[in-house]
Amino acid sequence: MYKFFPVLFLLSTAFSGCTPPPETLTPKTPLSNPKNIIIMIGDGMGPAFTTAYRYYQDDQSTGKIELTVFDRLLVGMASTYPARVSGYVTDSAAAATALATGVKTYRGAIAVDVDKQPVETLLERAKKRGKATGIVVTSHIYHATPAAFMVHNERRGNYSEIADDYFDDRVDGQFKADVMLGGGWKSFMREDRNLVNEFIEAGYQYIDSMSQLPNVNYSNRKLLGLFADTGLKATLDDKNSDRLLKQTVAAVRILENNENGFVLMIEGSQIDWAGHGNDIARAMGEMEDFANTMEWVEQYVKQHPDTLMVATADHKTGGLAIGYHWQPKWLKNLTMSPEYMTRDIIKGTLALKDIHAKLGFELTEEELSTLALAQPQGFESLGIAILSLLDQRSNTKWASTSHSAGDVQVFSAGLNKSRFSGHQDNTEIGIELLKMLN
Ligand code: MG
Ligand code: ZN
Repeated sequence: MYKFFPVLFLLSTAFSGCTPPPETLTPKTPLSNPKNIIIMIGDGMGPAFTTAYRYYQDDQSTGKIELTVFDRLLVGMASTYPARVSGYVTDSAAAATALATGVKTYRGAIAVDVDKQPVETLLERAKKRGKATGIVVTSHIYHATPAAFMVHNERRGNYSEIADDYFDDRVDGQFKADVMLGGGWKSFMREDRNLVNEFIEAGYQYIDSMSQLPNVNYSNRKLLGLFADTGLKATLDDKNSDRLLKQTVAAVRILENNENGFVLMIEGSQIDWAGHGNDIARAMGEMEDFANTMEWVEQYVKQHPDTLMVATADHKTGGLAIGYHWQPKWLKNLTMSPEYMTRDIIKGTLALKDIHAKLGFELTEEELSTLALAQPQGFESLGIAILSLLDQRSNTKWASTSHSAGDVQVFSAGLNKSRFSGHQDNTEIGIELLKMLN
C-alpha cells in the first residue's frame, strides 16, 4: 500500500486541487485504474498443489524451505460454487465466466447467464476502452477457460461454434483478442472453414511453431500462434517445457506496445488435466511452468507499477493430499510423462525393462513385476500401475478424479492488489476487474 501512496496523493491533488483527508485512504479504495491487467488462472490448482510445489522445489541442501511465488503473492481466498442449478461444485466454464464477467452461471456455460443470455466479458470491456487484449494457454485456445473471456455459448463443447466466434463475434468491429497463443489447429482448420487463413487475411501474423516466437514482428499488434492440434504437450514431454512462460513473454512484448495498456489472460490449463489423471509427476511439471510464468509476471509488475496481476484457480481437481513422509525427489527426474511411457510400452517402442531411464530411478524387482503383470492387460491397466508406483514412492494420495468444492487461493501484485484480500467469491474478482475498466 505505502508504495502507491505518492501516486494517490499526486492524482488526488491534481484532480481536486486539495490534499485528501486521511480517512479516505481505506485499503479497499481503488487508487486508480491500472493501465494493464494480467489475470492468471491455474486450472484445477487447489491449495494442495501450491503446497506440494513448495516442497517439490525445496532445495534440501539449505536449512530452510524456500518460499515460492505463491507464498509471496498470496492475498486471499475465493469460493467457486456455480449457480444454484449446478450445485456446489463448479467446472472451468462456469468458473471462468465468474472471473471474466462477475456473473454466476451453470456448469458448461461460456459467458452466458443461467437464462443463456450473453454477459459482457473482461476482454470485451477492455476492447471498448481501447486496450490491447490477449489469451495465452496450454490447452486449445477455444477451451472453456479462455473461451469464457472471448465469446458466448450455451455449451463449452461447441468447439466449432466457439472457434468461429473468435473471428465472427466482434466488439465495436474489433476482434476480441489481438494475441492468441496455445493449441487448436483442430477446430481452427476444418474442412468447412479455415479460421487461420481468415485471421491471416485480416492482418494477423500466424506461427505454428514455438521456435518462431522470437522472430515475430513485435510492432505488428496482431498474433495468432497455434502449436498443437488440441492441447500442447505436457511439460514432461515438450522440448519447450517452459511453453507457458515463452508464450507469455511474447504476448506481453506485443501487447505493451499499445499506449492505452492491455488486458491479458494466462492459463496453466493442464494442472487440471494432471489432477483428473491423478498424475503427481505431471502435476508438478505443470506447476513449475505456471510458477515460473508467475515469477516473470511478478518482475514485470515490479518494473511497471501501473500494472495489476491477479492469479487464482477456477476450482480444485483430484483431491490431492500430501501424504506422511512425502518424497518429491522421486518426481524430479522423469524425462517423459507416465502417459507417454505407457503408450510407448504398449506400442512396443519402449521396453518395460528400460522404464527406469524414463522414470529417473531404478525399480525394485517387486515394482517391475507389478508393472509386468499390468502390461498385458493394456494401456489403462499399465498406466494406472505406473501412476500407482509414483504415488507409492512419493506417498501421494488422491481423493477423486474430478473437481471438488474447496475454496481456492487468490494471489495478487501491483496496483490495487489489496482489492482481492481476505475471503471473496470468484464473481467478486470478476466484478472488481470490470470496475477497473470503467
Ligand atoms: Mg481450463
Ligand atoms: Zn477439470
